[in-house]
Amino acid sequence: MNLVDTHCHLTADRFDTDRDDMIARIGAAGIVRAITIGTGIADARACATVVAQHPNLLRMAAGLDPFSAYHAGEAFDAELAELDVLLPATGCVALGEVGLDYHYDYLPAAAVQQAQLHAQLAMAQRHGLPVVIHARECHADMQRVLAEHPGVGGVIHSFTGGPADAEAYLALGWYLAFNGIVTYKNAADVQEAAKVVPNDRLLLETDSPYLAPTPKRGKRCEPALMTHTCAFVADLRGEAPEHVAAWTTRNANSLFSLGL
Ligand SMILES: [Zn+2]
Repeated sequence: MNLVDTHCHLTADRFDTDRDDMIARIGAAGIVRAITIGTGIADARACATVVAQHPNLLRMAAGLDPFSAYHAGEAFDAELAELDVLLPATGCVALGEVGLDYHYDYLPAAAVQQAQLHAQLAMAQRHGLPVVIHARECHADMQRVLAEHPGVGGVIHSFTGGPADAEAYLALGWYLAFNGIVTYKNAADVQEAAKVVPNDRLLLETDSPYLAPTPKRGKRCEPALMTHTCAFVADLRGEAPEHVAAWTTRNANSLFSLGL
């Protein structure tokens, strides 16, 4: 089975003790590409180093998400200028993750986050890159912002809405990516959403080291565990895991130009 993990954070501290072994397990699990996501400029540089060591298996994306924007503070505009240079210099296959997160009060205000997102959607269009979107407790605003950029497409990563929000993003032309969350007992809404996504808009991811799928829930997640999510989503949809693997790999290849 060939799979693509479209979203992981292989630079996370939690992999510092065994990163090489963890990466070896990715290929052994049948995952042919994994996209490691750089959040902020420093992390993006770290991603570039890891990707350079595994050029056949790994690709990267980079963006200024609400958390890195918070940490950048006054330096946000300078980081944005650096991102503009870094995207082509590191061979990023997407801009992201970027988005809106209304969960934490300390993050920049909604209007500021939206302005930062607009700027990066415009940047992605200039570079001809797809976008990886982080959307937390903000679906109505996110759909409104994305609708203002009809020339930009990509994926709603870690999709956690129900079928109505899924349909809204699909109508805007976006892909939806599911991770370990869809396997959790309390995720009935997300499971319903995973059933309505057409074959040609479905993606899988892990968001490693976070969100390990059942039966590893609560443990550190790594890309090799994505086989559990694939099997679960296939079961939900009444399809064979091979079918879900084939479609999601084809979709990832076409969205991110992975050369598969
Ligand atoms: Zn992420």
